[in-house]
Amino acid sequence: MKKPIWISPPHLTGSELTYLKDVIDSNWVTVVGPQLESFATAIGNYVKCPHIALTNSGTSALHLALSILGVEKDDFVLTSTFTFVASVNPIKYLGAIPVLIESESETWNMSPQFLEESILWCLKQGKKPKAIVLVHLYGMPAQIELISELAKKYDIPLVEDAAESLGSSYKNKHLGTYGDLGLYSFNGNKIISTSAGGALISSDESYIKKATFLASQAKEDTPYYEHKELGYNYQMTTLNAAMGLAQFDKLDDYIALRRRNFDYYNSALSPFGIQFSEEPNVDYFSNRWLTAIFWDDKTMKISPESLKEALENENIESRYLWKPMHTQPLYKNAPYFGDQMSEKLFKKGLCLPSGSSLSEADLERITSVIINKIKT
Ligand SMILES: *Cc1c(COP(=O)(O)O)cnc(C)c1O
Repeated sequence: MKKPIWISPPHLTGSELTYLKDVIDSNWVTVVGPQLESFATAIGNYVKCPHIALTNSGTSALHLALSILGVEKDDFVLTSTFTFVASVNPIKYLGAIPVLIESESETWNMSPQFLEESILWCLKQGKKPKAIVLVHLYGMPAQIELISELAKKYDIPLVEDAAESLGSSYKNKHLGTYGDLGLYSFNGNKIISTSAGGALISSDESYIKKATFLASQAKEDTPYYEHKELGYNYQMTTLNAAMGLAQFDKLDDYIALRRRNFDYYNSALSPFGIQFSEEPNVDYFSNRWLTAIFWDDKTMKISPESLKEALENENIESRYLWKPMHTQPLYKNAPYFGDQMSEKLFKKGLCLPSGSSLSEADLERITSVIINKIKT
């Protein structure tokens, strides 16, 4: 069997053990400590956002964001249909109703047109949406200016799910910093990993104070344990933050490597009619977390299943594009606004191995399998 190639494996730097050893030597394996402060400062400075709460996952960061914004049972929360389920589940945790918005074809992210349609529809039901959860998928910035304008026009708080998009920017401003709140994930498959972890950021200090409070069981500032509000156990640990410090040192290198993967695939495969989601203009900068390809029947009559299988036969992992939320059994009854664009992507696309640890030889091995498949 050939050496396996995974879709987006963790990429350890070799210095994790040094940082972890400090934690273990200190005996301080808990949820406060210098590693947490340093990692929070590093991320905050990097994205140029002053306030940050580290969490035990991206999902919990989103759950906190929506709790802070006062999302409650039967509220409408607008979000992207073309995403990973974690963008939507926290809406349901709070008993609110996700309203699913289709993507536009340029960035594959939330369509401003369908967003406005959905807002008008909610208003007609007599309920102003409580929040917009905007996803920047695969690292690609959404049409953030248009979406921010709509959020302002209708006075709806904007949360950016930048779980996949740490390091991506629009007009040199980091994704996650446009909204009222933004979140990142440091899960094992993300661009840098703390094994599991996340962050919630905001320019509004009161939001982050509230997040920190809710993430630690909402314990009141009393000498004994006093609780008035419902909290969670969502804090990051010093061990995860130590991982994060080691990984953070490599963030810019990893972005460059993932962008190199994209460029390699693009130049090797586009002559064969394979299509890519290009950065629409110089304002858009994608970290290229995952390279996704799609095609039409003119290029390849084959299904994603058969291409996936051809890669699997060579011990190469690939994944389907996200199956849109409005086609998921869990969310099939959620209101949906769109033209089924993401269903087409799902039916004719695949995510290719995109890790920062891929070698040129790996990339060559992958593209040759795909080219052979196109030619048959
Ligand atoms: C990974 C991911 C999340 C959740 O992050 P976790 O750290 O895995 O909880 C949320 N949204 C999107 C779009 C993601 O890809």
